[in-house]
Amino acid sequence: MDHIITLNSGSSSLKFGLFAAGGADPILICSGEVERIGSPDARISATTTDGRVLADTSSEVLRDQASALDYILDLFERQFPSARVAAVGHRIVHGGPDNDQPILLTPDSLRMLEQLEPFAPLHQPYNLHGARAAMERFPEAKQVACFDTAFHRHHPWVNDTFALPTEYYDMGVRRYGFHGLSYDYISDHLAKTAPLIHGGRVVVAHLGNGASMCAMIGGRSVGSSMGFSAMDGLPMGTRCGQLDPGVVLYLMDQQGMNADEISDLLYRKSGLLGLSGMTNDMRTLEASDTPGARNAINYFTFRIRRELGALAAVLGGLDAVVFTGGIGENSTYIRDRICTDMGWLGVELDHDANADNGRVISTDLSRVKLMVIPTNEELVIARAAAANAA
Ligand code: AMP
Repeated sequence: MDHIITLNSGSSSLKFGLFAAGGADPILICSGEVERIGSPDARISATTTDGRVLADTSSEVLRDQASALDYILDLFERQFPSARVAAVGHRIVHGGPDNDQPILLTPDSLRMLEQLEPFAPLHQPYNLHGARAAMERFPEAKQVACFDTAFHRHHPWVNDTFALPTEYYDMGVRRYGFHGLSYDYISDHLAKTAPLIHGGRVVVAHLGNGASMCAMIGGRSVGSSMGFSAMDGLPMGTRCGQLDPGVVLYLMDQQGMNADEISDLLYRKSGLLGLSGMTNDMRTLEASDTPGARNAINYFTFRIRRELGALAAVLGGLDAVVFTGGIGENSTYIRDRICTDMGWLGVELDHDANADNGRVISTDLSRVKLMVIPTNEELVIARAAAANAA
């Protein structure tokens, strides 16, 4: 039977999934992650959907993406000897201004995606590194690149530009928007399960360690809180979210910080971690009663409420809000904080349904439907890979 592998390669991690293709939708068989690649305590975990642990071990063999892939491949060959890998789907953060769909990876398209590395230096090089390793390991399989930017590519120009001289737009300085695979999944899910909502004005809040919000009409993106990089908009686990560019100038000119130091500050030391001085993990923050933890949660929810109002204005009204991502799917408290006193927008939370982690958490009288939908970015990648399978 044909199988699909999905890969999400980071700087020191590799998330993977194995799907059986052939049916209406690929079916997940096994998923896992290699963490801390290259360090002595590199670790692989892999579990089947029926709960069998295939690997949960440290191994020095996991020196780089290629050796991690070899390890995974050997594991698959031992555990699923009849599986034929027909396609590998890759999560690639940046597809540039032109790619609104997944594309096949070839030497030419890889070169085109390498040109985009300066736009996403903390992600794109590692994504492509993983893709190259997979192309070597599975030369017979189709390799399919799925972009986090693609879903937003048709949002209106006013949501695509900054107020800079137009030559900067032409050189690619645009509001790309990210988390597109997650929004794609939610849009498709709404089309299948709630077509009236899908056809309407919806804000999706993807709230995880990375966080953004997307305004959709008819299931298509018309605005996003994220812009040129995966740093704009909402505060995140360790990323600052929206920031006055004057702050960057001040850090350079007055504090003598260079680009690497500022990048480290804004990407890795800010957001929930920076504000709390403690952790980027929302569960830990919710359990803490320190002023730092309270401040981090206050700022996080304040910015989400502000963005919700802004995106409702972009949409000219609001029919539904969908919560997804680790925090959006699981945190009763954060959803409560976001939705409280939002009656002016037509939002009325059903506190019991919210506490029960229901799929619909608005009251029957709420003009705006509040929904919780677990996202599934891997399935979006697997679908695209299956559609292109050899
Ligand atoms: P993600 O990046 O989508 O995996 O989301 C990770 C974030 O979700 C972390 O900040 C977790 O603390 C948070 N999270 C997961 N489960 C819960 C929960 N039950 N309550 C609050 N936050 C949660």
